[in-house]
Amino acid sequence: MQAIDLISLLLPVAAASGWYAAKKHYTRKYLTELANPMTQAYRRGINYLLDEKTDKAIAAVAHILEQDSEPLETHIALGNLFRRRGEVEKAIEMHKKLLQEPDLSVPQKEKANYELGIDYMRAGLFDRAEIIFKTLAQTNNHGKAALQQMLLIYQQQKDWHNAIACILKLRRIAKPRHGETAAHFLCELAEEAMTLHRLKDARDYLGQALTDDHDCVRASIAKGKLELGNGEYRQALETLRQVESQNPRYLPVVLPLIRQCWERQGNTQELTRYLHHLHEKFGFISAAVELAERIRDTQGIDAAIDYLLPILEANPNPFSISRAMALLAEDRSLGSNKMRRLCALLQATTADRLRFQCEHCGFSLSELFWRCPSCQHWGSILPTEIGSDSPVREGEIQLVN
Ligand SMILES: [Zn+2]
Repeated sequence: MQAIDLISLLLPVAAASGWYAAKKHYTRKYLTELANPMTQAYRRGINYLLDEKTDKAIAAVAHILEQDSEPLETHIALGNLFRRRGEVEKAIEMHKKLLQEPDLSVPQKEKANYELGIDYMRAGLFDRAEIIFKTLAQTNNHGKAALQQMLLIYQQQKDWHNAIACILKLRRIAKPRHGETAAHFLCELAEEAMTLHRLKDARDYLGQALTDDHDCVRASIAKGKLELGNGEYRQALETLRQVESQNPRYLPVVLPLIRQCWERQGNTQELTRYLHHLHEKFGFISAAVELAERIRDTQGIDAAIDYLLPILEANPNPFSISRAMALLAEDRSLGSNKMRRLCALLQATTADRLRFQCEHCGFSLSELFWRCPSCQHWGSILPTEIGSDSPVREGEIQLVN
C-alpha cells in the first residue's frame, strides 16, 4: 500500500491543482502507517523471512496475530511459515483453526482450505489432500491450482486413470507444469498391461496415446518393441520408423530395434538402404559406422574405410572413431595383435553405449527414463551424442533434405 501511495505522488497528476493538498494527505498517511506498530511488526516479520530467520519470523507474526482484527492473511502466513520449517502438524493446526472462524467469506474459506490441502500433501496425507482439492477444483479462484495439486497426487500414487482425467481438464485452462501428457500416462498403463501379459490392453493404450499425441515417441517405441517381441516385424518396423518424423533425436534409441526387425526377416538389403537414408537425411554418424561394417562384409575392409574416413574427418567423434579403428583392427591381414589390443582398449574407454541427459535440468543418466528422476519432468530426457556431454541437438543431426 505504502509503495503504491508513494508512486501515486510521482505521477503526472501532480500538475493538477489539488497536487499540494494530495501530497500533504498522502505523506501524512504514509508516515502514520510507518509509525503504526502493526506495520512495523509486519515489516519486521517479512525481513526475518527474507533473511531465512523463520524462528524470529514466526514469533513476529504470532505477535501480530494477537492484535490483528483481520486474522486470515496472518494466520495463513504463519501456517505457511510452519510448513516451510517442516512443522507440518503446526501448519495443519493453524489452518484448521482458521477454518473454524465463523465470519470467513467463501473466498477466504477456499484460500484456507487450499493451504490446508498443501499441508496434507507435505505430510504425505494424500487422501485428505485429494478430498480438499476435488472440492476446490470446482471453484473459479482455486480451480487450476487444485487440479495441478491433484495431478501431483495421482502421479505420486501411479493412479494413471485419474491422472488422465485430471490432465484433460487441466489442459483446457493451463499448460502442465512438468510436461505431463495424457499420452505419457497411457504409456504407463500400457507398460503395466505388458508386465501382466495383457497385450491387447497394451496395444489399445498405446493406440490411444498416439491418438492423444501423434508425436509421442515413447508410444511408438513401446508399440514397436511389443510387435518385435511378438514376431510381427513388419508392423514393428512401420511403428518404429515413425520416430524419424516424430523426433529424430531418438534415432540412436530406435536404430538397434529397426536393425533387429530387418535382420530377423533376413532382409539386410533393406537395412543397408535404411542406414544410407539415415546418414544422408540426418547426418547420423552411427548409421554410417554400421554401414561401413556392412561394406566390410560385402566389399572388404578397404572399401569400408574409404567410405568411412571422409565422414569421420568431417565429423570427428571419439566413439565413432574408436568403432572405425576396431573395424580396421578386425582385419587380420592389416592389424597386428598389439594393434587389436590397443583398439579394444580404446573402444572400452569410449564406452560403447548410449548416454542420456535431461534437457530440462541437465541430469545425466546411463539409460532412458521417460520422467526425469531429478526434476520429475516428463519426456525431457534425450540421448546424448556419444563421447560428448551435450544432448544431440536438432542442428547436430543435420537435416539434409
Ligand atoms: Zn530433469
